[in-house]
Amino acid sequence: MKRISVLLALSALCAAQTGTKKGVERAMLDPTCKACDDFYRYATGGWTDKNPIPADRSSWATFTELAEANLEREKTILDASSAAGATGDQKRLGDLFQGCMNTEAIDAAGVKPLQALFSRIDAISTRQDLVATLSSLQSDAISPVFGIGSTPDPDDAGQIIAGIDAGGLSLPDRDYYFRDDAATKKIRDAFLLHVAKLSELAGQTPSAAAATATTVFDFESALAQATLTRVQRRDPYLTTHKMSFAQTKELAPDYDWAGTFGVLNIPNGVAIDVSQPDFMRAMNKQLVSVPVETWKTWLKWRLLSGRAPSLSAAFRDESFHFNSTVLNGVAQQQPRWKQCADVANTTLGDALGRLYVDKYFPAESRRRVQELVTNMRAALGDQLKASDWLEAETRKNAVAKLEAFDARVGSTVKWRDYSNVQVSRDNYFAALESASRAGRAFNLAKIGKPVDTTQWAMTPPTVNAYYDPQRNSITFPAGILQPPFFDANADDANNYGAVGAVIGHEMGHGFDDQGAKYDAAGNLKDWWTAQDKANFEKRAACVTEQFETTDMGGGQHHNGKLVTGEAMGDLGGLTLAYKAYHKSLGGKAAPVIDGFTGDQRFFLAFARVWATNMREERARTLLATDPHPMAKYRVLLTLQNMPEFHAAFGCKPGDAMVRPVAKQCKLW
Ligand SMILES: [Zn+2]
Repeated sequence: MKRISVLLALSALCAAQTGTKKGVERAMLDPTCKACDDFYRYATGGWTDKNPIPADRSSWATFTELAEANLEREKTILDASSAAGATGDQKRLGDLFQGCMNTEAIDAAGVKPLQALFSRIDAISTRQDLVATLSSLQSDAISPVFGIGSTPDPDDAGQIIAGIDAGGLSLPDRDYYFRDDAATKKIRDAFLLHVAKLSELAGQTPSAAAATATTVFDFESALAQATLTRVQRRDPYLTTHKMSFAQTKELAPDYDWAGTFGVLNIPNGVAIDVSQPDFMRAMNKQLVSVPVETWKTWLKWRLLSGRAPSLSAAFRDESFHFNSTVLNGVAQQQPRWKQCADVANTTLGDALGRLYVDKYFPAESRRRVQELVTNMRAALGDQLKASDWLEAETRKNAVAKLEAFDARVGSTVKWRDYSNVQVSRDNYFAALESASRAGRAFNLAKIGKPVDTTQWAMTPPTVNAYYDPQRNSITFPAGILQPPFFDANADDANNYGAVGAVIGHEMGHGFDDQGAKYDAAGNLKDWWTAQDKANFEKRAACVTEQFETTDMGGGQHHNGKLVTGEAMGDLGGLTLAYKAYHKSLGGKAAPVIDGFTGDQRFFLAFARVWATNMREERARTLLATDPHPMAKYRVLLTLQNMPEFHAAFGCKPGDAMVRPVAKQCKLW
């Protein structure tokens, strides 16, 4: 149960220039648009016009450009790892990649790889069998109804306990089962066809497959009904329920807890954090009231749906059709090698990551970024100390939290060993199952032990970053520490506006609507005085209101409460980066480069990293599920609050980029 806040929802190097310090890339801009009318368009319009979305993508953005370049680098590593002479984890990496590329063998196997699991489900005839099978499936790293894993103790974050999370939904969110707007209805209809199509491919008759679709939908609707909304799930007080084994059993007395804990070797007596108790109660109700045959139908669907991308072409194509075309508007699948590089990265991330860092992340970059983090930290310290609304006690706690930030740059220092993963080039499916069992065992082995602070939730090539409130850590993988985020040859205005804002964003999560509920040690503990808390909530509400009331066209709005934390990270982060930039100037005026002042270059660099073209379907899915605002609004709404920006570009009250002073949101 991860509560981390990432920079953006995701799962290139621009040609490296050398010599003089790089300033502003004019081709990015749309000079026909006024900076004070629409700064997003002004700063990125040149780029967005010239960068249409490729047919195999749901969006194309600065982030994807970088991710794409990283894929090419991963390919170089994977090709070398596939050559004769590779040993150990590098050989495993090469074999997994080649196994994934071996579509001939994968296609020849059809649905056969699933047969053994299907037979176990077919063999269920009583409710007792059902309960036993739900536990035994856990040993195959299959958690059909709920997730179980390791999580920090909410009261003592240095210790790892067991965590149980709600699960079981095949649509992107609980609301998809109930909303009655036309777009959602269309998705539901497509979902029913999708379930039927995959079921037919797996051998059901058309009429049986159609019945399966209805059964699956009804079964999941009952689970969805008991699932918290996305907004509720952002509140740690609604999703933290530490309890004993006996209390967990009380929530769902008909589930075989002893069986599951036994199969997973989870130590007896360990505390359990159950994120959604009502969901567990609903699951128990399903367990005693829903016919065994319905459960069997649903269990087989979950296996099929989860594993379709690793089966033969017909299964892969249907899975792509629903998950990428229907939900995200993508017309075409990515070349196989890119899909396989992604699989290698998610499956054997540390094996690939250590080779990536050796080859593509110079020690000098690490040093320079660490220096930036140090400067940002100092700027936040100044800000907290100078803040006019914090009472002494809260200020002391906030500074303590800042000082305790564990800042991690580039990659972990301790790599995971994959020697228990069995990989062969002619059985891709078995390799994935082995990796997923090993991954599950690795995760569960942490339970009952002190936290291992060397572990990362993102692999090194990832173009993203995160804050972990329970570790109070900020993490910046090597993948994002390259141009245009960080560029050793760029002037400081660029680096502070781009990677500085990213660092500030992650630091800001320590003090957003969610992160502020955890203390310096990562414990869920209130450290605010009542008055400061009320003040803080007022400031958060300003951001919520700003996003909720902004018309995005077509009657669409952000769900203000869902995006508040990320928007606070953006506003706090950019303000902080601006202060740190000015601190770095040490009182001197910044040079004018390419006709732009230092402050102008700072804000242009910020906007540039959010340059994005996105398909409508993708935007709709993100609006419904993603706590991050749309890229365009991350730029526009953040800057509308910043007098420093208005001054830099000479924007006046009444301009679209200027929010009326009384309504401007300010965090510190
Ligand atoms: Zn974030």
